[in-house]
Amino acid sequence: MKKYLLPALWVLAVSILFSCTSKQERAETRMRDFISAYEEKVIPLYKDAALASWNANVTGTDEDWAKSEKASFELSKFFTDSTAFLELKELKESGLVKDSLLARQLDLIYNSYLGGQVDPSLLAELIRMETEISKKYSNFRAVIGEKELSDNQIEEILRNSKVSADLKTAWEAHKMIGPVVAEDIIRLVRHRNMIAQKTGFRNYHEMTLKLSGQDPEEVTRIFDELDELTRDGFAGLKGDIDTYFAKRYGLKTGDLKPWHYQNRFFQEAPEIYPVDFDKYYEDQDPVKLAAAFFNGIGLNVDAILAKSDLYEKPGKNQHAFSTDIDRSGDVRTLDNVKPDSYWMNTMLHELGHGVYSYYNDRSLPFTLRDAAHSFTTEAIANLFGRFATDPMWMNDMGIIDQAERERIAPVSRNSLRLQMLVFSRWAQVMYRFEKSMYENPDQDLNQLWWNMVEKYQMLQKPEGRNMPDWATKIHVALYPCYYHNYLLGELLASQLYNYITINVAKNRSFAGDKAVGEYLKQKVFMPGTRYYWNDMIEKATGEKLTAKYYAKQFVENDTNSNN
Ligand SMILES: [Zn+2]
Repeated sequence: MKKYLLPALWVLAVSILFSCTSKQERAETRMRDFISAYEEKVIPLYKDAALASWNANVTGTDEDWAKSEKASFELSKFFTDSTAFLELKELKESGLVKDSLLARQLDLIYNSYLGGQVDPSLLAELIRMETEISKKYSNFRAVIGEKELSDNQIEEILRNSKVSADLKTAWEAHKMIGPVVAEDIIRLVRHRNMIAQKTGFRNYHEMTLKLSGQDPEEVTRIFDELDELTRDGFAGLKGDIDTYFAKRYGLKTGDLKPWHYQNRFFQEAPEIYPVDFDKYYEDQDPVKLAAAFFNGIGLNVDAILAKSDLYEKPGKNQHAFSTDIDRSGDVRTLDNVKPDSYWMNTMLHELGHGVYSYYNDRSLPFTLRDAAHSFTTEAIANLFGRFATDPMWMNDMGIIDQAERERIAPVSRNSLRLQMLVFSRWAQVMYRFEKSMYENPDQDLNQLWWNMVEKYQMLQKPEGRNMPDWATKIHVALYPCYYHNYLLGELLASQLYNYITINVAKNRSFAGDKAVGEYLKQKVFMPGTRYYWNDMIEKATGEKLTAKYYAKQFVENDTNSNN
């Protein structure tokens, strides 16, 4: 008997092992089969939607917009397929898809379908509510006396007037959109929460972040770190801002009100360090400069520019964006270039998005040939866009000479620092308000808003004010739970800049340094979305996303900086 015992055990062990592997193999084969059927359908739908949207933005004709709407609808309808979703759910819950590339695709595709499993009647109601609110924002005009004013006209008064009473009137007139939409927004927030709860999330904020691959706790931790690192620096700078404005308006600093900060929300830096960058670009061609720069660092953009639409045309979208039509090299940017610093920044920014897409790893599957997260491509765009007003870059690119560079360096630095700090405190307000509003839409939102504004922006609520001022920011209603990504993009831009200047580049403008392009290709662009965004960042910089380098770049007042 003994003779047969060992072989019998061996057979048993092997068969257990074999059945495990074969279960895993079977699941992975099912996933592979799913992916090939999925890609066969989704790739053409994705391309059609991207191309139709591109055409509509270029021509602006009703016909092209109708085509674009139809193509986007077809793409989103694809993800409502409940049979496909069940297959993914089963595979995900089995835990048997272990191959790293397959598992990553399973997670990403599963999230896309999960977002599509909402009851169509709830979705239709959601769109109806959003459209209604959107109309109210579009139709609203601030009224002062007999006159109706646009948002731009309000901003103009806030920026230019020195009369407190006029500033107050303009600010209050704009805030009258609040009561028009507040009740609708609260209903919309409850509706969004209901959709989230039916999908298995606690609230809509959590759902939006998680479906985009972000853990709300992780994001909050980064925002806490940033708050900690910027609080004192901002308080100091806020003191300078207040001194400047008290003088401008002939007031005591203690008497400054939210309408004294040259902006409806104090989201942009007041103009206390004016540098006229436009004059340096009057005789320049931002497209040529951007192309020379990118080609110089080894990220050739000729193929992107050849497909792009760069200048103004009737009917064309007046803004700028970059789009990846097929994730196989057809990358384009739409711009309305003029010779000024805004368009220099925009060209560098959009081509930053462009090279991220263009230099993906074509051997990866379709799903993984995408940015690690929407904020990581924003980071690359910001990293390059910032150079447009960087005197060192301008000098290295031959736009200004050494003497001019030295002359404008301190004031440029102060101005950028102010811009970044003001924006970071404002983004804190937006992130924390939205998070808390979705956690409990029944709380006193008017007070919640001012608690955030007082804490993070250090502005004083006008005495006795009890108005839905939170509802005056259109993003709260119509671009929900996304604002924090703008700030995460800035943090990552600083983290990459710090890493590259210390470990990769020979100079701080990157100009002519091919090692920079090679580093970005290998560490950021080619990995695409095969790793969780924070793992990609750790692999690329040795650390998870941190606010440290943003603080290093913009909070510490480094007067010896040669920047
Ligand atoms: Zn961008």
